[in-house]
Amino acid sequence: MTDSKRTVTLIKGDGIGPEVADAVVRILAAAGAKIDWEVCEAGAEVFRRGLSSGVPAETIASIERTRVALKGPLETPVGFGEKSANVTLRKLFELYGNVRPTREIPGVQGVFAGRRIDLVVVRENVEDLYTGIEHMQTPGVAQCLKVISRKGCEKIVRLAFELARAEGRKRVHCATKANIMKMTEGLLKRTFEAIAPEYAGIEAEHIIIDNCAHQLVRYPEQFDVIVTTNMNGDIISDLTSGLTGGLGLAPSANIGNDVAMFEAVHGSAPTIAGKDLANPTALLLSACMMLRHIGQFAPADTIENAVVYTIELGKTLTCDLIAQEFAVTTSRFTQAVIENFGRRPDGWVAREHRPIRLPQVERRPDMVRPASRRVVGLDVFLESGEMPHAIGPALEALVEGTPVAMRSLANRGVQVYPLRGRTPDCVDAYRARFLLRDGGELSDSAALELLQRVGAKFRWAHVEKLQEFDGAPAFAKDQGED
Ligand code: NAD
Repeated sequence: MTDSKRTVTLIKGDGIGPEVADAVVRILAAAGAKIDWEVCEAGAEVFRRGLSSGVPAETIASIERTRVALKGPLETPVGFGEKSANVTLRKLFELYGNVRPTREIPGVQGVFAGRRIDLVVVRENVEDLYTGIEHMQTPGVAQCLKVISRKGCEKIVRLAFELARAEGRKRVHCATKANIMKMTEGLLKRTFEAIAPEYAGIEAEHIIIDNCAHQLVRYPEQFDVIVTTNMNGDIISDLTSGLTGGLGLAPSANIGNDVAMFEAVHGSAPTIAGKDLANPTALLLSACMMLRHIGQFAPADTIENAVVYTIELGKTLTCDLIAQEFAVTTSRFTQAVIENFGRRPDGWVAREHRPIRLPQVERRPDMVRPASRRVVGLDVFLESGEMPHAIGPALEALVEGTPVAMRSLANRGVQVYPLRGRTPDCVDAYRARFLLRDGGELSDSAALELLQRVGAKFRWAHVEKLQEFDGAPAFAKDQGED
């Protein structure tokens, strides 16, 4: 343990936040953690004062300074602010890795009790469908862009393997939907497969995310570390916290290049707020992750052992773990944990933790340079209430005598012209695909001319260049396209 004190930003948060945060501060002090807390605000009160981000500048400055934060749950009160303060913090400090451990605590009843579940979900936290890039293509058709980068994949995959190494874990699964989304989800799979050989001694396996969900509720004990994309991770990490006793026990870390924020998975639990009823374990275990992050391993081990011992003993449990009439208050539970310092639970051995080597990341854009590239065509997204057999020939006529041919027309990803089988149920957003007739490269001026021709007859909403990198098409085929 380091001798010097470390300053940490503390955001107590809303609802049960202040109660559980006070319990955690008390327990950390009793365990000898060397921390100076810098208490800052965020959440409901801040929104009500009219700050639409929910996070004041002083809080941001504090985290910039301390680089480490412990955060209680934050509410976005209805009618105030448009964005969640949690998301603001995550984006502001680019906390790209959401780490959610799930470990069975002996004594906690549940369907999976006795199965020795001990796994960590490492969820990419800033890319994917969460970049917030959404458009209405037409008044009746919405789209959301799924953005996945090689840089983002590399960071999250390395974080997963480094975490496995630091905690002595033996296996990393990469869970994706690469069978359907070959470019986006496939990028995580390919990056995982490229990096895995650097981590000799750690087994690396790809699993399709739906099978992963199935396996998690059938044989959860087979998993050790699961790395996955944002949306998949959002869902399966909630599933995994449900496997071992629920929200009162589930901790998490949000890791960035130079800032880390630790928080319980649960929300502000407004119905039990202010009643001294909440279970502080989730925030306490998050604080243990934080202590290890800043190199204070000894108090983390003392606290983890004591809290697990207290729960295993089963005499002082909060209302989420036992019937109300037998439950104790947050304060009593806190006292019990402190009294149990030095004890070790029977059915649980603390993991050996080593410092995690965080991936070193350059801020500048990461250029992936193919040996060759060319633009081979254009996808034009247009609005029309006509049927495909009317639109297709009209588009063909528009590009007659030009270097591009109308290759196909698709509606929600299904080729509808030339027709292959039955005409599906159509909506008013079509995608017309134009490809160069005889090789070469489609220049920007030819692309603009094509757009003008289409625009003379149709309302277009969006265009996408069709490219080839290293001779391979960098765009997906339509369902039904050869
Ligand atoms: P919640 O997690 O607050 O509550 C769900 C259920 O779990 C409730 O029955 C609650 O009483 C119980 N519970 C949660 N934590 C507990 C604890 N520590 N001890 C005992 N029981 C506990 O979820 P919700 O009701 O959907 O959300 C309430 C508010 O919290 C919303 O405003 C939501 O936006 C916010 N929220 C914030 C975060 C965060 O800051 N990271 C996460 C989730 C929800």
